[in-house]
Amino acid sequence: MRIANLAGRAVLLGTAAVDVATASEGRFGPDPMSIWADWAAFREWAAGVDADAHPAAQPFEVGDLDAPVPMPQQVFAIGLNYADHAAETGMALPTEPLVFTKFPSSLTGPEATVRLRGDRVDWEAELVVVIGEGGRDLPAGWDAVAGLTVGQDLSDRTVQNRGDRPQFGLGKSFAGYGPTGPAVVTVDEVGEGRDLGALRIGCRLTGDGEEVLQDGTTADMVFTVPELVARLSAIVELRPGDLIFTGTPAGVGLGRQPQRFLQPGQVLVTEIEGVGSIRQTFTA
Ligand code: ZN
Repeated sequence: MRIANLAGRAVLLGTAAVDVATASEGRFGPDPMSIWADWAAFREWAAGVDADAHPAAQPFEVGDLDAPVPMPQQVFAIGLNYADHAAETGMALPTEPLVFTKFPSSLTGPEATVRLRGDRVDWEAELVVVIGEGGRDLPAGWDAVAGLTVGQDLSDRTVQNRGDRPQFGLGKSFAGYGPTGPAVVTVDEVGEGRDLGALRIGCRLTGDGEEVLQDGTTADMVFTVPELVARLSAIVELRPGDLIFTGTPAGVGLGRQPQRFLQPGQVLVTEIEGVGSIRQTFTA
């Protein structure tokens, strides 16, 4: 199943959108954050809804979708989690997950226009994990994961590296620097007919001069999704609806010779096999 946020209301997506509060007669929703707190019951109810054939199904525009999880309590992000990306930045492979945050106010929807706030803003295509029930000391596995969505960990490399020590959180948290969507796709649906641990992931510029920027596979993660769930929850309580940006494969602008960064007018499409695609347009 695909769960999205249509103009501030939780919906189930097929070719049409079914308003969760309407279809469940008020049992769930409309707040897109409310369903994660009641994930097990919601999943059971939603499994019986045919989003294409439901009488409440309405046509929708992708541009009207907002971030599927608009205000998570916690957003984790993992640095240098693909070996080829660590190599291109000249850093050693981490022996422990390198964890930072994108502050939730940076999150935006799948087709947002993003204002570039500097001249060294980089792209990072990322698989984003959405936590279901959550908890502490969770075993390594997919059980705690409600679903997956597509994300961009847009990163201001100047802010990230200024000062005495690098600090990732602020440079990755400008308004709009955390686009996600278009929907949270449940683990069972992503895994249907494909290997959950080996999803093709990448991003490309479209419009004048289409160009592939990143083309990798989540099979190259240093710490896999099941491992990240266990390692994070050994220290921090994972809460329903929390996000984990799981790192990016090779091909970022910082690792290029010469280095390259996003320019006003460019359109960036980020795609993950079985999960979907998001599209950002950049302005000055
Ligand atoms: Zn990242």
